[in-house]
Amino acid sequence: MKKAARITITGAAGQISYSLIFRIASGEFLGKDQPIILQLLEITPGINALSGVAIELSDCAFPLVKEIICTDNVDLAFQNSEYAFLVGARPRGPGMERKDLLQANAAIFSEQGKAINNSASKSIKVIVVGNPANTNALIALKNAPDIDPSQFTAMTRLDHNRAQSQVADKTGSPVSSVENIIIWGNHSATQYPDLHHTMIGEKSAFDMINNDWYKNELIPCVQQRGAEIIKARGASSAASAANAAINHMRDWALGTDNWVSMGVLSDGSYGVAKDIIYSFPCRCSNGRWDIIQDLALNDFSKEKMKDSERELLEEKEAIRELLEWIESPSKVSTLSGRGDAKHLENAWFDAVNALLR
Ligand code: NDP
Repeated sequence: MKKAARITITGAAGQISYSLIFRIASGEFLGKDQPIILQLLEITPGINALSGVAIELSDCAFPLVKEIICTDNVDLAFQNSEYAFLVGARPRGPGMERKDLLQANAAIFSEQGKAINNSASKSIKVIVVGNPANTNALIALKNAPDIDPSQFTAMTRLDHNRAQSQVADKTGSPVSSVENIIIWGNHSATQYPDLHHTMIGEKSAFDMINNDWYKNELIPCVQQRGAEIIKARGASSAASAANAAINHMRDWALGTDNWVSMGVLSDGSYGVAKDIIYSFPCRCSNGRWDIIQDLALNDFSKEKMKDSERELLEEKEAIRELLEWIESPSKVSTLSGRGDAKHLENAWFDAVNALLR
C-alpha cells in the first residue's frame, strides 16, 4: 500500500471545490492506487458548510480517502501538504476597484504563502485557481522563500481546454486529435489563445479553419467564455474549472507528452518580462514543467502577448508596495515614510484578519 498523499484544497465549501474534491477523492488526480489525506481549508463562516461537504464525502465511502481534515487554521491546512489547490479567493464586491480586489486577494495569498513556507512539504506543488490567479500565485510564491518558485503555478488550463474543444467542434475532429494549443499570458480577457502551432492529426489547424473564424470568433469566445456560462447557467463555471485544475495537476505530477498551458514564473522566454506569472506552453515530466522553446511568433501573436504582459505588469504595480515590503520590509518602511516595519506588518495582518473575518 502506498503512503497517503496530503492534498490541500482552499475555498473547500465553494462551488468549484464541490466538484473538485469528489473527483480527487475518487482517484482522478493521482490514480486509483494512491491513498490520500484531504486537508480542507475554509474561512470561519464557511466551516459549517464545509462540515456538510465532509459528511457527503464520508457517505461516498471512497476507499482512497484515509482522513479528512476540515479547518479554518491555515497552518494546519498546509501541514506536510504535497499538493495544494488554492481555490478560495475574495470575489469582487460592489464598488470594489480592480486595485482593491488585487490587494484583498494579496492579503489572502500572502498568508497562505507564508503557511506553505512554514508548514508544507518542501516539494509541494501549488496551483492557484482563485482570481486574479496569476498575480495571486506571484504573491504566494514571494511569501514562500524556502520553496522553489517553480512549484507555484496558476491555472490557464480551462482556457486551453475551451480552445481545444472549440477547434474540434469547428473542424468535426475528435478532441484528442487537436494538439499544441497555447494560451499565452494572463487568465483574464487579455489572454491570447494561439493556434499557429496547433495540429489536427497530421494537418496544421490553419489548413482546416480560416483566419476570420480564428480572430473574430475563436479568440473572443475563449476570452469571454466565463461570462457566457454565467448568462446561461446563472452561476459561474465550476465543474469545468475543477476538471481543468485536475488536468493541470495530474499532468504536472505524473507527466504528459502533450503541450499544456500553465501560468508559471517567467524566466524571460519569448521576451516576456521576468518575475510575473505568465501562461506559456509547457511540457511536464518527472514532476517538473519546462517551457517549450524556439516557437516562431508572428507580429499578431507578439502584439497579443504584449497586451497580456502589460496587464500583468499593471497588476504587479498595483501590489508593488506589498511585494517590496515582503522582499525588504525595513527599506519600504523608510521609503514610504509611514512608520516602522512593525507598524506596516501590523497593518498588513490587520488587513488580512479583516478580510478573513
Ligand atoms: P468558486 O468556487 O466558484 O470560485 C473560487 C475562485 O475560483 C474565484 O476566485 C473564481 O474567480 C475562481 N475561478 C477561476 N477560474 C474560474 C472559472 N472558470 N469559473 C469560476 N470561477 C473561477 O467560488 P465560491 O464563491 O463558490 O467559493 C469560494 C469559497 O472560497 C467560499 O466558500 C469562501 O468562503 C472561500 N474562501 C476561502 C478562503 C480561504 O480558504 N482562506 C479565502 C476566501 C474565500 P471569480 O471570482 O473571478 O469567478
